[in-house]
Amino acid sequence: MEIACLDLEGVLVPEIWIAFAEATGIESLRATTRDIPDYDVLMKQRLRILDEHGLKLADIQKVISTLTPLDGAVEFVDWLRERFQVVILSDTFYEFSQPLMRQLGFPTLLCHRLITDDSDRVVDYQLRQKDPKRQSVIALKSLYYRVIAAGDSYNDTTMLAEAHAGILFHAPDNVIREFPQFPAVHTFDALKQEFIKASNRKLSL
Ligand SMILES: [Mg+2]
Repeated sequence: MEIACLDLEGVLVPEIWIAFAEATGIESLRATTRDIPDYDVLMKQRLRILDEHGLKLADIQKVISTLTPLDGAVEFVDWLRERFQVVILSDTFYEFSQPLMRQLGFPTLLCHRLITDDSDRVVDYQLRQKDPKRQSVIALKSLYYRVIAAGDSYNDTTMLAEAHAGILFHAPDNVIREFPQFPAVHTFDALKQEFIKASNRKLSL
């Protein structure tokens, strides 16, 4: 039995914080794990910036509700779900993901939670666990599933390494250079081919 694990932002949907930075014009909100690899440092900075500008959870959700999945992503997820059990492993928050997951047909999503106060101010966040993507792959392997994983950035690389097969998708050049052990592709057609190559089931397109 095989499971496909996919990252969300940068793979199936746009980077949510970058979209919010563009909508608000707040340049410092553009930073992602590509710029600040320590997720705690990055999130504390984001929450501080939200407070400085008096922005609430609803302001972010309003921007997210205007976003759509990347071109070809919906069709790709449909294709994948006909062939594998699909689990999305993401560092996003359930409070952000709803409108985008609806457009993807609500595949299983494991991610984090935001904590808000009575005024809807984001006061904190709750990470599901440390190194959550890799831990999820370890858990699936303990159920004797074979895991094929795809992601685009540094926060995916431990998941890719833990999986039986890891694939870089839409990754920037520096990540591709640093992790030459993973095949790197940039289109959904090429990603399908990599899943087929990695699969024991020798699926046909
Ligand atoms: Mg990503």
